[in-house]
Amino acid sequence: MPKLALHWQIVIAIVLAVLIGSVTSADAVVIGISPLATFDFIGTLFLNALKMLIVPLVMSSIISGMAGLGGPGLERLGGKTLLFYACSSLLAILIGLTVVNLIGPGTGDNQALAESMRPDDATMTETLSKVEGRDAGDIVEVFIRMVPTNVVAAAAEGQMLGLIFFSLLFGFFLAKSQSDTTRTVSQFFQGVMDIMTELTMWVMKFAPLGVFGLVAETVTTTGFAAFKPMALFFVTALLALMLHAFVALPLVLRLVGKVHPSKHFAAMSPAMLTAFSTASSSATLPLTMKCVQERSGVSKQTSGFVLPLGATVNMDGTALYECVAAMFIAQVYGLDLSFGQQFMVVMIALLTSIGVAGIPAASLVAISVILAAVGLPLEGIGLLLVTDRVLDMIRTAVNVYSDSCAAVVIARSEGEHTHIAVGDPNPTHFPKA
Ligand code: ASP
Repeated sequence: MPKLALHWQIVIAIVLAVLIGSVTSADAVVIGISPLATFDFIGTLFLNALKMLIVPLVMSSIISGMAGLGGPGLERLGGKTLLFYACSSLLAILIGLTVVNLIGPGTGDNQALAESMRPDDATMTETLSKVEGRDAGDIVEVFIRMVPTNVVAAAAEGQMLGLIFFSLLFGFFLAKSQSDTTRTVSQFFQGVMDIMTELTMWVMKFAPLGVFGLVAETVTTTGFAAFKPMALFFVTALLALMLHAFVALPLVLRLVGKVHPSKHFAAMSPAMLTAFSTASSSATLPLTMKCVQERSGVSKQTSGFVLPLGATVNMDGTALYECVAAMFIAQVYGLDLSFGQQFMVVMIALLTSIGVAGIPAASLVAISVILAAVGLPLEGIGLLLVTDRVLDMIRTAVNVYSDSCAAVVIARSEGEHTHIAVGDPNPTHFPKA
């Protein structure tokens, strides 16, 4: 019997999770077992396994990618990658800004919304304690964190920017000093990367189960009732995210990369579904790399450089969401932001999206930086908590998709003949690139 493709297995897991999650409640007990605790157990185990792959995968792929490139090729690739990331994030933010201004989800009489949507005190205090005291100065901190004082600590604490910076430097100097000993080091990292690729394949076999646990847990704890008053904001953010993913990025793929957008989309589906379920682009990185290499046909060298960098610095969905959310809060509180203030929102969204970690709910902190900068009340964050998880899942999928588009477009511009191979029953069965 032919094996069902991984992305279909994941889709079925999501549907089952929504169905089962909506008929269970947080305090339900079935034959002495709490379904919520079981979902949590399965989901956490899967997330842990994905996170376990990140540090060795990021280090080995960046280092071996850089070592393979060397010299001018590296500068060219680096320049193109950063340019692409800056442009696509800016495009995403401008789409968000236009949609939120056109729809105006927070305009009108929102006194009731502002009052009624305050979450319970405990949640509010917890969120505020995370975001209080943030201001535009935090952007400087993003750059300071880029240079870690201790690379082992950066890896242990999941400070991806620091780890990436060190790996980039390490790879650069490895490429420069080609002696017998450094060639051995190069081969070592290549070997680590090959092993990590195999290990990722193995972990992904459990994706449907892990995704089921994560989604069922979210549906059980969040429910649907609280959603209603925030529906218009939800629709606005969703529409803007969809416009970016289904109109803007496909146009870029077609016009700049000369790549068939729907084929690439299909090729990336396992990674996007995983991003959707985990709400973490870092945790999805192993699978993003796998799909881009084996289903979209990008070389290991290009994807090993572009994708780990993108998972941390390129977050189109997050940048767009930050802008929509800050504008929405301003509208709810009846503040009309001037052009200058809106420009500031755009710039801070762009800069903070670089520093936002690829983990669930990370953008809430960045949004608080924007709120502080334009003088909006931090309590506004409370409004966002209601819809945050679901929008987080969607914006993370957009983040991952945009990274993959960058990889394909850049590979094409480097003269690679990317061959999109979709339709294979299982992405993990593709021959190595
Ligand atoms: N969850 C997002 C990600 O991992 C970050 C965020 O927007 O909160 O890409």
